[in-house]
This record gives sequence, C-alpha cells and structure tokens, in this order.
Amino acid sequence: MMTTAITNGDIILEFSYLLSAIFFVVGLKLLSNPETARRGNLWAASGMLLAMITTIVLHRNADGESIRVANLVIILGAIVLGGIFGALVARRIKMTAMPQLVSIFNASGGAASALVALIEFSNPENESALVTLLGLVIGSIAFSGSMIAYGKLDGRIKDLFSRWLTYVNLLILAGILFLLVLVLVSGMPFETKQTLVYVLLAVSLVYGVSFVMPIGGADMPVVISLLNSFTGIAAAMAGFIYQNQAMILGGIFVGAAGMILTLLMCKAMNRSLINVIIGAFGGGGAGVDREKGIVKEISVTDAAVMLNYSSRVVIVPGYGLAVAQAQHICSEMDQLLEANGVEVKYAIHPVAGRMPGHMNVLLAEADVPYEKLVEMDEINPDMPKTDVVVVIGANDVVNPAALDDPSSPIYGMPIIKVHEAKNVIVMKRGMGKGYAAIENYLFYADNTRMLFGNAKDSLQKLVTEIKAL
Ligand code: NDP
Repeated sequence: MMTTAITNGDIILEFSYLLSAIFFVVGLKLLSNPETARRGNLWAASGMLLAMITTIVLHRNADGESIRVANLVIILGAIVLGGIFGALVARRIKMTAMPQLVSIFNASGGAASALVALIEFSNPENESALVTLLGLVIGSIAFSGSMIAYGKLDGRIKDLFSRWLTYVNLLILAGILFLLVLVLVSGMPFETKQTLVYVLLAVSLVYGVSFVMPIGGADMPVVISLLNSFTGIAAAMAGFIYQNQAMILGGIFVGAAGMILTLLMCKAMNRSLINVIIGAFGGGGAGVDREKGIVKEISVTDAAVMLNYSSRVVIVPGYGLAVAQAQHICSEMDQLLEANGVEVKYAIHPVAGRMPGHMNVLLAEADVPYEKLVEMDEINPDMPKTDVVVVIGANDVVNPAALDDPSSPIYGMPIIKVHEAKNVIVMKRGMGKGYAAIENYLFYADNTRMLFGNAKDSLQKLVTEIKAL
C-alpha cells in the first residue's frame, strides 16, 4: 500500500463533506416545522448530492488512483436505475401508504450498509473489523425488521405474540454476541471467519424478524423509530469503514434523530425502551370484556347544530382522517365554525396515524395553522370545559381502556381524554377496531354520539349543513 501526498482535490473533497454536513444540519432544522419541511428536504438532499458528486469526481484510493471507468459505469447505472425507481414509487404512492414507503426506504438503507460491511470484511485494507461487523449486524437487523414493519403496517403480517419468543430473542442476541467475539478474537483461519460472517448475517436477519414480530398493538411507533435509528447507525459504521466524513456525519444525524424520536415515542406510550423490546407487550390480549352500553347515532343536521352553537370545539384527528383524505374538508369545516364564533383546536396524539408526526404533516397539507395544533398533555386539562369533541377516524388514541383496564394491551398509554368532554361526536365508517385491535368503550359512553360514514363524506355533509344554518 502506497501513501500518497495530499492534493488540492483531497482538500476540496474534505471541504465538500463539511459543506454537506452543514446542508444536513440546516435541512434537519427546517424539517422541524411543517411550513419549512419541504425546503428542509431539499437542503438535505442537496447535501447528499454534493457529497456523491465530489466523491465520484475527487475520491482516490490508497494508491492515489481515481475511480475506474468500469466502476463509474456501474455506479452511474445504479444511480440512474435507483433514481428512476425511487421517483416512480414516490410519485405513485398513495398518501395513506406513506408509512409503508418509509419502512421500505429504511430497509434499503439497512441492506446497503450491511452489504458494504459484508464486502469490506474481506478487504485486506480494511482495518476496522469491529466496526465492520457491527455495521453488518445492525444493518441486517434494520433491513429485516423494517420489512416486517412494512408487512404489519400494510396489514399483510399479523403480530406473533408469545412469551417464549422473548426468550428465543434473548438467545439469538446471545448467539450474535458470541459470533462477534469469535470472529474478532479467535485465531481461526480467515476463510473460516469469512464463513462465520455469513452465519452472523443470517442470524442477524433472523433476529430482525423475531424482534419485530411480537411487537404490535400500539407499540409499533417505538419500533419504527428504533429501526430508523439503526439504519443511521449502520450507515455511520459504513462511513467509518471508508473513512468518509459525509457518510459518518449523515449516519450519526439519522441515528441520533431516530433515537430521540424513539425516546419521545416511548414517553408518548409511557413505556421504557426495554419494556417495549423485551416485554413485547403489544399484541398480548384483548382486555376485559365489559358490559357495553348502547351505541347512539347522531344525524348530520343535529351534529351541525351542536357544533355551530358551541363555544369550544376540539377536533381529534386519527388514522381514518388520513385514509379518507379528509384533511382539506376538515379544515374548511374548522374555518366555517371559527367564522361563526366557535373556537376550534386540534388535539394531537403523538402516535395517531401510522408514522410519527403523521397528523402534523396531514393537517399542514391542508394549511391548518400550526398554532391550532395542541399537544395531548396541553389539551387534556381543558377537556371538561370543551363543549364538543369531534373524533375523526381516531380510535386507539382516545380509548379509555388505556386508563382504567389493567388487562388491556394499551393499558398505561396516555390518551386524549375526550370522554371527559361535555359531548363527543365520533366519525367513522362502522364499529371497526383500531390498530391495536381492541374494543373501545368510548363509543358506548353516555356523552358519545356516532356519525357513521366515510370521514370525507360526513364532513362534506356537515359543511353543507353548517352553511345552511
Ligand atoms: P386507529 O388505527 O386506532 O383507528 C383508526 C380508525 O379509523 C378505525 O377504527 C377505523 O374505523 C377508522 N377509519 C378508517 N378509515 C376511515 C374512513 N375512511 N373514514 C372514517 N373512519 C375511518 O387510529 P389512531 O390514529 O387512533 O391510532 C393509531 C394507532 O396506530 C395506534 O395504536 C398506534 O400505536 C398505531 N401505530 C402508530 C404508528 C405511528 O408511528 N404513529 C405506527 C404504527 C402503528 P372504521 O373501520 O369503523 O371506519
């Protein structure tokens, strides 16, 4: 191996990585507000583009050689193919399938990092075996785990809850640790180590599956954020292997952001991370069967009158609002009520919908002012003095079983306490359950009235009625 002198090209390359990192930071900052999030995405993508172009043009290997033409053709071919595929999928995907798309992207990131580690383990110039193996393990877990998360979000895979799976998972984890130590410290021939690395890859892939399979019910947001963080960490490991500052920094940003989100989601679910992973609470049971009351319906006309002559209305959006794509008509109703002197706020539960921040994104799309969105903890104390709460396509996040049924799989999860309001109108198509697949006794409560139908149709009818009042 020759050591080459530092050239101007090397300095420009390192500088471009620094610039990319700055672009990532600005992008992240802008992503923290729905109004600037689009620009944030562009900033971060531009940083990535800059790092890619300068790497292709300026990177030299240890012998001082630039990229070979054959490799350049492969790289450009992969970029063009991947770019076309990504653009087509992103354009065609329905808004409601966004969480699934995010899981697929996450899986791709994990797979890419695991492949880098797999190939680089055999590279004699690679001096960081530990980092390489960690990248392989974490990337593989992120890949297979995200694929299972995709299947669950898409309704193709059911939770597999069993206490024994927790022990199996601990066993697999111990196996991964054992293999890691064996490959790193034993004096076995390199060929044997290479074989063991393939075993490590297979076991890690299995762990990704068995780790996500039992987590269900309402705990999925925590796992999705955690897998997101894993992908970032694996990318940072790949960056360490290549000593590529842009990859290291980009990976660390994603890993850290994912970890912060994981902790926020844990807080939202009132669970510790260990409790979610080891305890595998999610799919446990269906709660105690209580005596149901009577489901009372409300007509569109009565609902319109009730809303129009209230002083304070709170809208609780949930996954059904996204399914119905009813955010625009919901915003129209809100503006109509405000124009008639009603104070309207939106209560946002951190895990409502199917991805972190889902409701914020959805309502931002309909230009609902950010100030009208109130976090759960902040709005709950005001519930008793709220005239009408309109629950639109939400279910688990307003289920009182989380507060008073210790046998419920969602027991302990903080909810929006809509049952404490003077009146509750629930808009949904029928008596269907939410993601956690449990009964919701809110629908039978004395102060609850059901307005059945697709949320968009019901809201459209409500708007027409309110206009006619
Ligand atoms: P839920 O999934 O609990 O309930 C959604 C409700 O919407 C259903 O009960 C359904 O009832 C109704 N609905 C569906 N389509 C329509 C429609 N077109 N019009 C009107 N209503 C409709 O949603 P929540 O937002 O309350 O809770 C989110 C759940 O998802 C939580 O359990 C959370 O943990 C989980 N989760 C969240 C993730 C995240 O990152 N935020 C990720 C993965 C899971 P019906 O069929 O009767 O209409």
